[in-house]
Amino acid sequence: MREAVPPVTQLVRTAIRVEGVVQGVGFRPFVYTLATGLGLTGLVGNDLDGVFVEVEGPASTVSDFLLRLERDAPPLARIERLTTRAVTPQRSASFAIAASELASGLRRTLVSADIATCPDCLRELCDPADRRFRYPFINCTNCGPRFTIVRDVPYDRPLTTMAAFAMCERCAAEYHDPADRRFHAQPACCPACGPRLALDDAEDPLAAAAELLRQGQILAVKGLGGYHLAADAACEQAVARLRARKHREDKPFAVMAADLASARRLAEVDLAAAGLLTSSARPIVLVPRRTGPGPEAALAAATAPGNRQLGIMLPYTPLHHLLLAAVTRPIVLTSGNVSDEPIVYRDDEARERLAGIADAFLVHDRAIHVRTDDSVARAFRGRPMLLRRSRGYVPEPITIRSGFPRPVLACGAELKNTFCLARDRRAFVSHHIGDLENAETLRSFTEGIEHFRRLFDVDPRVVAHDLHPEYLSTKYAVELDGVDLQGVQHHHAHIASCLADNGEDGPVIGVAFDGTGYGTDGTIWGGEFLAAGLASFERGGHLAPVPMPGGAAAVRQPWRMTAAYLDAEAPERLDVVRRNQDRWAAVTAMARRGVNAPLTSSAGRLFDAAAALLGVRDTINYEGQAAVELEQLADPGEAGAYPAGLEAGHPFRLRGADLLHGILEDLTARVSAPVIAARFHHGVAALIETGCVAMRDRYGLGTVALSGGVFQNLLLLDAAVSRLQARGFRVLLHARVPCNDGGISLGQAVAAAARDRPGPPS
Ligand code: ZN
Ligand code: ZN
Ligand code: FE
Repeated sequence: MREAVPPVTQLVRTAIRVEGVVQGVGFRPFVYTLATGLGLTGLVGNDLDGVFVEVEGPASTVSDFLLRLERDAPPLARIERLTTRAVTPQRSASFAIAASELASGLRRTLVSADIATCPDCLRELCDPADRRFRYPFINCTNCGPRFTIVRDVPYDRPLTTMAAFAMCERCAAEYHDPADRRFHAQPACCPACGPRLALDDAEDPLAAAAELLRQGQILAVKGLGGYHLAADAACEQAVARLRARKHREDKPFAVMAADLASARRLAEVDLAAAGLLTSSARPIVLVPRRTGPGPEAALAAATAPGNRQLGIMLPYTPLHHLLLAAVTRPIVLTSGNVSDEPIVYRDDEARERLAGIADAFLVHDRAIHVRTDDSVARAFRGRPMLLRRSRGYVPEPITIRSGFPRPVLACGAELKNTFCLARDRRAFVSHHIGDLENAETLRSFTEGIEHFRRLFDVDPRVVAHDLHPEYLSTKYAVELDGVDLQGVQHHHAHIASCLADNGEDGPVIGVAFDGTGYGTDGTIWGGEFLAAGLASFERGGHLAPVPMPGGAAAVRQPWRMTAAYLDAEAPERLDVVRRNQDRWAAVTAMARRGVNAPLTSSAGRLFDAAAALLGVRDTINYEGQAAVELEQLADPGEAGAYPAGLEAGHPFRLRGADLLHGILEDLTARVSAPVIAARFHHGVAALIETGCVAMRDRYGLGTVALSGGVFQNLLLLDAAVSRLQARGFRVLLHARVPCNDGGISLGQAVAAAARDRPGPPS
């Protein structure tokens, strides 16, 4: 048909600017191939703002080029903005690639996240004829390390940890060939010039590593964003030993499987989960574990004790691919640290701190610049949901339509900390920093902020922080000079984060359910119904407060919350009373007198009280453990719900204690624990429904945003969403940032920006 239409032969030249994630993702070779394929002349280059292009040729061909530029962009590129303007044709004879400008100044170009090994590199990895056959550091413009090796911008080899490796002739030829897949691939290398693998003085480090794993030994493996500890996932002793040496009692370990088929032998992987597992970010994906005789035996019980879910990931570096192929079975791959310390990433500290855990070290000589943990995700109703946003996602910005009038730093929360730097329309949420409770994590936090400031050229004028005066992130914020401080209430930040995640401004009914957050009245909140926009909120209702006998001790010992909730009404013959007989009276007295018993409306503590009452556990070894196990216990077939009363008022109060009385009655009637656990979950969902209806009556709002760590509970989330939708509510959930405190920094940033904006507050 083409011939039938006379071509528009008028010669035009168009200048194009492309902004977004367009560097280090094969964009220039793509433009080069596209332009030369269409017979256009001109040039393409990288600068601090992104990619600039000029194309010259017949008008119709140039518009064809523009169409394909957006439509066929490389898989990892993300075009945020594309602008064009007509310029005078220069009758250029060819298409050229301009050299990268290594200048200082504004740094708007985006550094990409680390990318899992691409199919082309995998093919070469397995091809005996290829010069990178079995080379553990193979990569190209479409894959490989990025964020973890970048020291500074612009993203060019001398400013990465690959600077130490001089390219050999053949690699350099590929690097400079616009038609090559490795054209300007900064980390490109080969066995002749790149990093090397080592395991003590083994001749074949990979074979030695696989052999050690098969013998049940524990191996430290230097990865992309830090060290992992590996063990044969089928070997009961090996996994148990790893648990003991790591001082990690119950928290499930993640497993790496060679491929999707192997993952499916261990767990039920639906379409959405498979999409996450095979995505270029390659997070740990939580999936329902397979039960039954055969496949389950493939996994040591100590991997994820008593857990229906399993965290699985697929290989994301060539080293992982080779290791998994050599071991021939799934391995436990958990972060290299002792108990709750941050993941080890420097070689010297790895040798020192992992010495008591690992039997051997599989290492290499490419330095890790930024410690970056594996991300954790799951699918909910076919939609991906991040629980920890780190390796593979960071530092890709989240676009905020309404933008940031002045540059913002948001310091985040105390647990699962992330920070966020933002300017213009971009929010850069940091990698997972961890719990800000030791010097090492605090150093990651402060160094991370400095690194992001340089990388993204953000000089914050507004600094947002939590209201909790004792959070180290708050203390960091208030000590900064020459900036405007904005305190953002914890649960408001959760809801603002959910709004930003969904690209909305509110106002909405915000349901923020979590363990702990400092309230505007100085008490501990955590079961909140807020009428909230980005800038402000009103507390419309909450769970009726109860005392936390012993403060922090009540968080570690859920049975104390049972005592606080039931008070004198707990019959003496009750198991939880009998188990804690020696301290029960003292703790209830403490609760009643309000001495060292701060009041809380926390939903997390309500789950704790229910879990201990049901005999799930009296003390915990990691945050949220009692609630996690209560969810595991629940009978998925049971739909009954305990009712909870609403005490009218402003704010209204929902009586969580009613749910515990429901449990008490069923315990007396000898109803099974799984049925009781399910009825409790549905009771909380019903309580959320009651609260939202009351909020709608008062504020006339029809959209609900669900946020806070409690909504990591899938049973509760599913039940709550169903009930709310049945009541005609539109429901907003998290997807790109976690509903837990890892999402707080984004919420703080958008809240501070909304207040910073001129005009009436939203
Ligand atoms: Zn590749
Ligand atoms: Zn080379
Ligand atoms: Fe929280």
